[in-house]
Amino acid sequence: MKKFGKLTCFVIKKKYLIATLFAVLFVISSVGVFFIAKTAKASTYISTIVIDAGHGGIDGGSIGYSGTIEKDINLEYSKTLKSMCSEFGFKVVMTRSNDSGLYSPFAVNKKKDDMKKRKQIIERAKPDIVISIHMNSTKGNTSRGAQVFYNKENEHSIKLANSIQKQFQDKLIKPRKTSQSGDYYIINCTPYPSVIVECGFLSNKEEEKLLLTNDYKNNVCYSILCGIIDYMV
Ligand SMILES: [Zn+2]
Repeated sequence: MKKFGKLTCFVIKKKYLIATLFAVLFVISSVGVFFIAKTAKASTYISTIVIDAGHGGIDGGSIGYSGTIEKDINLEYSKTLKSMCSEFGFKVVMTRSNDSGLYSPFAVNKKKDDMKKRKQIIERAKPDIVISIHMNSTKGNTSRGAQVFYNKENEHSIKLANSIQKQFQDKLIKPRKTSQSGDYYIINCTPYPSVIVECGFLSNKEEEKLLLTNDYKNNVCYSILCGIIDYMV
């Protein structure tokens, strides 16, 4: 009986051990799944980016202190940003790649037609994010600093804007301290996370000069790329 008892005890112990082992494995795998799920939730995958060079054609945008036309410099910055993003491995769709606006020559309201075409390009691309490149301007000539504008109804737009603005803080000369909400068609017209990047003030004599240098352009575009990568993590 004693022997049998020991055997029963051994069998029970063995069963207990196997049950414990399964329980431990279950806990480990659950914790693993939890962390994988948490990581997946925390990171945002980006595959396609729409880069929108603001203005174009008959719409020159703002005019700089020494006569720089905003549409031209927007295009230069957009092309540089495209190269950097493509090199990083993102698929990039541009709303325009030359001086022309997107409106039909027969459109009565060319600005409205132009914006509608930009919306169509974004919808067709189904991007993960939209970056619209602009240069700022005010009546006075003292305002300065790069600033990102977001759609306050879209939490991803806010997150993206803050990520880019933080990179501006780290890498640029006297950027604006914070990003800002803005009520603009290009960031409101689709549900995709969209921001407007005002790279600096053309109305500021010194900043216009800075914006026209290759070094500064590369620095701004690199900051935007770093902000996009930060947004993903
Ligand atoms: Zn503009």
